[in-house]
Amino acid sequence: MAGRRYVIVGNGAAGTTCAETLRKREPDCSVTLVTDEPHPLYNRVTLPRALKREVPMDKVFLRTLAWHEQVGIRFLPETRVTRISAEERTALTDRGEELPWDALLVATGGRPRPLPAPGASAPDCRNFQYYADTVALDARIAQSRRAVSVGGSFISYELAEAFRARGLETVWLIRGPRWLRRVLDEEGGDLVDRIARAHGVEVVHGSEVARVNVKDGVVTGVVTTAGETIDCQLVGSGLGLTMNTQVLDGSGVRTREGIITDECLRTSVPGIFAAGDVAEYRDRVTGQHHRMGTWDNALFHGRVAALNMMGQETPYVDVPTYQSGLFDTIISVVGVTPEALPEAESVTRSDLVARTYRKLFFSGDRLVGAVLIGSIRGKKKLMDLIRERAVFQTEGERRALLEA
Ligand SMILES: Cc1cc2nc3c(=O)[nH]c(=O)nc-3n(C[C@H](O)[C@H](O)[C@H](O)COP(=O)(O)OP(=O)(O)OC[C@H]3O[C@@H](n4cnc5c(N)ncnc54)[C@H](O)[C@@H]3O)c2cc1C
Repeated sequence: MAGRRYVIVGNGAAGTTCAETLRKREPDCSVTLVTDEPHPLYNRVTLPRALKREVPMDKVFLRTLAWHEQVGIRFLPETRVTRISAEERTALTDRGEELPWDALLVATGGRPRPLPAPGASAPDCRNFQYYADTVALDARIAQSRRAVSVGGSFISYELAEAFRARGLETVWLIRGPRWLRRVLDEEGGDLVDRIARAHGVEVVHGSEVARVNVKDGVVTGVVTTAGETIDCQLVGSGLGLTMNTQVLDGSGVRTREGIITDECLRTSVPGIFAAGDVAEYRDRVTGQHHRMGTWDNALFHGRVAALNMMGQETPYVDVPTYQSGLFDTIISVVGVTPEALPEAESVTRSDLVARTYRKLFFSGDRLVGAVLIGSIRGKKKLMDLIRERAVFQTEGERRALLEA
């Protein structure tokens, strides 16, 4: 195994953690970390706080360029891997370099889906995924009076909250009947709407952006599919991600929405691994393949992928969690939800006065996931039960868990 060559595509939480783990555990290997962004690892989870100006923009960085050199990782920023050859065991970059590898990790995450409306290519129509988006949104907020956030995702919520926190009049346009349409039900959606409205956000359901009005290159408003014109100077959208799998085109690696892997994050081609948002891995808890778009999942994937790339067979076994502020309250998503497992059954308890909501998800007779709003009491116990694959056969047993 001496002098093995590792190539990692993507320097997010998954890619950087993998590079770091390999570097620490295998002193005589070579590690090359490639990213098409110009930055070392930054914390995407902190971007909303930077946009709200709760933390300075430069505090989002978790590594420096110099760090890579100090620890002995060859770092190639602003470099895109354009092709991976499984036969030749090389990765080709857009700078014309061919990187040989003995094991390769694809940790390329996803790119935001653009707003599908005329005018949406204007600079003041932004997604919220990268550091560069955050800097551009920050500057535009300072020049705006009114903003529209579009979408029913976590990102659209983060945008709506940041716009309000920065003092903008804010309209939140959600095409479906509620936020997180597939995860919450009517009561949960109603609670989130009330919380948002209490913070001065105008929440509009059931209509989309039909057109963005732009004058002299500057956004002046949006026209909705309901025929309403909303004057605004800024549009932010959170319409989900398309996974960056295209780098594997022609490599023989099996992909679906993401890159299919087994429990050890091995793809269908020996020597090629996938991790983080882009990995559609086999989950031991549910016995199914799915993707997890969370920071902690990306970190753990990075570590587990490194061990497997070194030949130490290590399955990924974890209950991923996603926790976020929700205006002045909190939301936590644990394990698997109907986004990944549409056939999951559920039980719900909600209290509009106390502003709490709990929904538990079951696959067959096993607890597999939960969403908690307003209080995360009992979260650890739920995670343990998911991990233990505990069985809940009757409606009574399931409902009793809601009180736990
Ligand atoms: C605004 C925001 C807020 C969030 N809040 C939370 C939160 O509160 N809690 C939580 O758990 N999660 C949150 N997330 C999600 C979390 O940040 C992601 O799940 C995690 O960062 C994914 O890490 P990753 O390493 O898989 O991929 P990424 O961080 O997406 O990194 C992939 C990198 O690969 C690069 N790349 C792609 N293709 C190529 C190529 N061909 N060649 C070279 N480089 C390439 C990309 O440009 C990118 O830099 C948030 C995300 C955002 C954007």
